[in-house]
Amino acid sequence: MDEGALGPAELSAALETLEDQIVLNIEACHATAVELERHATALGDERLLVRARLCAAGMLLRTGETATAARQIHALHQWAVTHGDRRLQSRTHMACGNVQRLAGDAAKMLEHALSAVELLDETATPYMQVAHRLRLAESLALNGPVDAARPRFHQTEQLARELEQWELLTVVLNNWAYVEYTGGEFARAEQVAGRLLAHAAAHGFDLDPTALDTIGGIQIENGQYAEAEQTMRLCIARYHAGYSDDADDMAEYLLTLARALRGLGELDQAQASVDSSRDLCTERNLAEVMVRVHQEQAELHAARGDFGAAFAEQKVFFEARENLRSQQREAQAQTRQVMFETAEARQEAEQFREQARRDPLTGLRNRRYVDEELPGLVAADPDLVVAIADVDHFKRINDTLSHDAGDQVLVRVAALLDSGLARVSPGGFVARLGGEEFLLVLPATRVGAATEHLDGIRRAIGDHDWRDIAADLPVTVSIGVAGVNESTPRSQGAALSTADRNLYAAKRAGRNRVVAGTPRERRPRAYRDRGAT
Ligand code: GH3
Ligand code: MG
Ligand code: MG
Repeated sequence: MDEGALGPAELSAALETLEDQIVLNIEACHATAVELERHATALGDERLLVRARLCAAGMLLRTGETATAARQIHALHQWAVTHGDRRLQSRTHMACGNVQRLAGDAAKMLEHALSAVELLDETATPYMQVAHRLRLAESLALNGPVDAARPRFHQTEQLARELEQWELLTVVLNNWAYVEYTGGEFARAEQVAGRLLAHAAAHGFDLDPTALDTIGGIQIENGQYAEAEQTMRLCIARYHAGYSDDADDMAEYLLTLARALRGLGELDQAQASVDSSRDLCTERNLAEVMVRVHQEQAELHAARGDFGAAFAEQKVFFEARENLRSQQREAQAQTRQVMFETAEARQEAEQFREQARRDPLTGLRNRRYVDEELPGLVAADPDLVVAIADVDHFKRINDTLSHDAGDQVLVRVAALLDSGLARVSPGGFVARLGGEEFLLVLPATRVGAATEHLDGIRRAIGDHDWRDIAADLPVTVSIGVAGVNESTPRSQGAALSTADRNLYAAKRAGRNRVVAGTPRERRPRAYRDRGAT
């Protein structure tokens, strides 16, 4: 990557190349992703930054930094969900699926694969169309019989051909063949492998070592040891030619070669191949392949007729396999813990967000909530009505009784406003603006109707039995109303100041009443009550 600055379009294109790529060299791709992350930061483009981070986190996951990568991927997934970005969500679901695969949760992996496919739309790249469907087929195979996955693989193969995703098609066929092979469907595996070979020949692709290893394995199962030996020699030569740099792979290829050689009766050569594999496993600490080294070694001893050694090696094999399983369970538990913590942290953050937008005394929405929500409502709804309700002579309640009694009055007034509004305007809300002042918001309501509703709420408060809190003091409210449509300019500020002016008019006119309208038309709309103080 050059050092110069990238524009948004160039960066997006560079990211797409990285996103839609069959990764062979993980380290190089990680370095590119980090570099693109730097460019996105320089541009200050959040979406591009998230895309770059997702690439980097995906590579990190493959290097074994599972916990860190899982945290990052979940945060990026949240971002995509919050921003309603379907294409990115589809990609983050793929990444979450990879996390779940490492956590050993095939069912969750399948869920993510399903979402990754469901979220595909016209913005999805052809690569995504094929790769995400392939993942779904693989997830089905991990969760159930090969029969259930087979139609999905078939569809994916068709789509890869239609969309001319030739490189991906080799992956589709390779993985499909592998699934049939591990499912014990050797004849079907051979058919798929045959299509893989034909496809590679037709397009002049050299099959990569992974694909050749699958083919070699299938040939061994079908008793074609000589063909398998040839395949594996080619596989190993290609590995050395730099087709792949995954450390585990070479150790595996040597084992497959050993199995082919054992089938041919070339026991010394087979032993040499097993020894090389064992050395690699020791050198690179490849526990998983080492288990299979022990297994193949036991088979080799048996092939030589040395059953005592075979039996001893078989025991080592079982022990190693048990060790590996408990290690894997441990790693899976750790990954699950990370994902649990991430979910918990998210929940806490949401709770905090919710708390920060509520008034602690009354439980109503607070001013922060109003400031966040109201502008959008004003912009979207021409028939929005706002009203400010203020408790009459509240100071007297505080002074005559106690501040505590005042608090209790506030809590009950809040509840009466809230239940009253819920009845007449279910889509609306009540917020405490501060002190003894409340905001009522009524969406899609004519000012006339709203004023009548609010007058009903006012009366209910005045008629309420307050003796348990306020002794003989009356508790009433005055309310100023404003239709957003009548306010000029049509804004939150103008509507609130009209409501405020009307509230002031209600107070001046004697309290315990509702005042609506603009000054010219105010009089006929004012509601007066006999019991006004
Ligand atoms: P008016 O009818 O004109 O509205 O008279 P008022 O007495 O209600 O109005 P004023 O604004 O003079 O007094 C409001 C009082 O509310 C003053 C303040 O001490 C009290 N107050 C503000 N917040 C709280 C609170 O959280 N709890 C209690 N108990 N009192 C509060
Ligand atoms: Mg007040
Ligand atoms: Mg007051």
